Amino acid sequence: MTLVRARVMDTPEDPFTGGTLRHGEDAGLLVTEGVITARGAYGSLRATFPDEEVLDLRGGVLLPGFVDTHVHYPQVRVIGSLGLPLLEWLERCALPEECRLAEPSYAEAVAREFVGGLVAAGTTSALVFGSHFAPAVDTLFAEVSRVGLRVTSGLVVSDRALPEPLLTTPDRAYEEARALAARWHGEGRTRYAVTPRFSYSTSEATLDACAAVLKDEPGTWFTSHVNENPAEVAAVNALFADALHYVGTYDAHGLVTERSVLAHNVHATDDELVLLAGRDAAVAHCPSSNSALGSGLFPLRRHVEHGVRVALGSDVGAGTGFSMLKEGLQASFMQALLGPDGLLLTPAHLLFLATRAGALALGLEVGDLGVGREFDAVWIAPGPGNPLDVGLRHAASPEDALAKVFALGTPADVAGVWVAGERL
Ligand SMILES: [Zn+2]
Repeated sequence: MTLVRARVMDTPEDPFTGGTLRHGEDAGLLVTEGVITARGAYGSLRATFPDEEVLDLRGGVLLPGFVDTHVHYPQVRVIGSLGLPLLEWLERCALPEECRLAEPSYAEAVAREFVGGLVAAGTTSALVFGSHFAPAVDTLFAEVSRVGLRVTSGLVVSDRALPEPLLTTPDRAYEEARALAARWHGEGRTRYAVTPRFSYSTSEATLDACAAVLKDEPGTWFTSHVNENPAEVAAVNALFADALHYVGTYDAHGLVTERSVLAHNVHATDDELVLLAGRDAAVAHCPSSNSALGSGLFPLRRHVEHGVRVALGSDVGAGTGFSMLKEGLQASFMQALLGPDGLLLTPAHLLFLATRAGALALGLEVGDLGVGREFDAVWIAPGPGNPLDVGLRHAASPEDALAKVFALGTPADVAGVWVAGERL
């Protein structure tokens, strides 16, 4: 057992429905075989457990490990291609790079860079868009298993509208997904996600193949893109003349369930929000990506009012980095820019979106630092004189301190990352 001593902040209850920031100025967390078994003021826990080894994390703030619900493994090297709208960015930046993962040694190097980026940013769980090449997906799963992250991922499938090397067939999509799921779903901390790239590049037959994998591999997840950019939405509507709307292109195949996470949904209609709420599906909001590609201002208020679950995604490489602190900050900016249509986000909202909301979207029993949870945590500890260090020392309240973490924190301030009590 280990007694962790730190300034602890988490959001066990949803602030969108009345929850508030939980804060322990000098808190103790007893971690037993990777699970938090007691929590309280450090002094009183120490009196109860006088002989346990103490891990002293004073200075800075200990938060639940971040949960990134939308991030692309093959795009780590194209981060920072700014100024293009979605379809042009895919054609010129993302897809040529994704073709390179056909080469196994290239995929191995990218997998190491990608997983290293997640850990360095304090992300402990992620829903990862894999590669179009099955061997490269094996490479990713092997790397996350070696490092110890919680990752749900899968083979990305498409059979039209992309460069030829990225295309598959319905039968091949099914067979390769089944083989990958058999190897990785439920193995340690890895799980499988059925992943059509988006319905723009996926025919009805391949969406059916995706539905068959979901049915034949119980407990697997589903993820894709939806309603990201007006030109993309118009193209999908033209391709699926019988569909009610973009969400309907997936729902008609039984792909929208409580185990579905759809990325973006910037241009959602009310009918789509009603459907998503009814299916209890989750949306991954990716504010940096939405800004970088000019995709639009995410209607968070309408999602919350319809009861649609929302979490955060970095959407690397359209997003500009792995930091979920930056995504929280950017989400706050975008809601402010929406004026009366936006939601005023408190620091507790941002922390919830970056941690527990993502865990709920992925069905993971992590995301806060309460008793019974596995100890997934990130220690944010800025160096002396760093503006975040100055801010934390002069913060007026715990909420103010947390606001400074989101405003000023970067991966350079991540001093430690744990998954299930294991320091990565
Ligand atoms: Zn994406």
